Amino acid sequence: MSPDVLNKDVFRQIEGVSPPVFFRNAGDLTLFYAPGYLAAARKREAEEITGILSGALPFGEDMTPHYLIRAALSAQAIWQQMHDPENYRPTCLTLYTTLDCNLNCSYCFAKAAHREGVRLSKDLIMAAAREVAGNCREKGEPFTAVFHGGGEPSLDSRLPDLLTDLQWICKQAKVPFRSYIATNGVMDPEKARWIAAHFDRVGISVDGPPELHNRQRPLRNGSESFRILERTIKNISRISENLSFRVTVLPENFGRIPEIAGFIAERFDAEEIHIEPVYHQHIDADLADVFCESFLKAQSEKPAKIVSSGSRIGEVHGRFCQIFRQALHLVPPAGASSCFAVSSQEEAEEKQLDPMQDEALFEKLSREDPDCEHCFNRFHCARGCPDVCPALSVDARDAGSFRCRVNRRLAETELTETAERLLFGPARNYGYAGVKLREDQ
Ligand code: SF4
Ligand code: SF4
Repeated sequence: MSPDVLNKDVFRQIEGVSPPVFFRNAGDLTLFYAPGYLAAARKREAEEITGILSGALPFGEDMTPHYLIRAALSAQAIWQQMHDPENYRPTCLTLYTTLDCNLNCSYCFAKAAHREGVRLSKDLIMAAAREVAGNCREKGEPFTAVFHGGGEPSLDSRLPDLLTDLQWICKQAKVPFRSYIATNGVMDPEKARWIAAHFDRVGISVDGPPELHNRQRPLRNGSESFRILERTIKNISRISENLSFRVTVLPENFGRIPEIAGFIAERFDAEEIHIEPVYHQHIDADLADVFCESFLKAQSEKPAKIVSSGSRIGEVHGRFCQIFRQALHLVPPAGASSCFAVSSQEEAEEKQLDPMQDEALFEKLSREDPDCEHCFNRFHCARGCPDVCPALSVDARDAGSFRCRVNRRLAETELTETAERLLFGPARNYGYAGVKLREDQ
């Protein structure tokens, strides 16, 4: 799909304005947007703002042009820092500690890597932890340990020792320690209670009502996993309030998102539900509208806070690569990966995604689709990742892909709804109004 078609109904860049600021018509008002600042203005005031931004008029009393330019400049600066290898000093240690898994999910991208008994080297974990703790100390930031998989992290019997050792390293480095585990929830009650008591945050995968969940996420022997999962959620919820839910949605179930979200919210008293379209499957770009309609319907029904990770307008972010998130990601038995979707050292080496081995990775992964250059969403969009990856194909095109269209539509809707809720009334009364959308400006 050409950028002209993509841009038809969304924020467009104001020509000749640098750093880029975007606008769109909203009935009797005009909306202005720079990543981090959103404004609405009546016709006359909108002409003035455009004139000031383009240099035709001097700055006046209205601070809107200042705020827009400031937000655009700060987003550009953060983006440059994020993509500069000199700034890569990770404060988060992400560990795929094991390739064991007790489920056989129909869509698992790591299935090919699953192997019993292959675990991440403890020596490597501890050496990396010391380095990360040193970075945290220098930057004055907390150390975040993320246990994820690959395989199912709760199957690693070393978990209690690893957690204790990481905490000890942080204590010695005098940095606060934070921990997160992402789990499939298939474990005995004792382990569930231990996890709830020892991790700051627990993310758990639930794909919906039992028939759907059991179909997509059966046990290794093919039997149902929902009852065990439900028991785990209850055990964790009794001890911890920091439980988040993650749903993977297959294209054939896009229309069921409101039902899935409603079920999880009601059954588990969920406050926040992450809904993600399945990774690494070709999804027809035209299905983006089906996904978005259903997602937005679920949001409007408000069973819980419904979020998706492809476009987060309150942050400056790009693709999900670990190196752009100040994360050091270790994979078993003794490798590192810049890609969250890589589960083993063998895979990281085969795809040449080990940041310790390839200094050119930052450059490769920073490569942009030229059609993203003038997009209002470019400073908070994961692009086509992980289905489209510039490290794996020089011809990778993000713009127009399924995820591009989802990210644009959801971001556009969020901005427009924010404007309707907060800015339309004041702008109609006073001529203009604006709101800051990022804390880090
Ligand atoms: S798929 Fe490619 S772009 Fe996405 S996280 Fe992995 S390495 Fe980065
Ligand atoms: S991939 Fe993202 S930044 Fe690129 S055109 Fe699509 S929405 Fe815009």
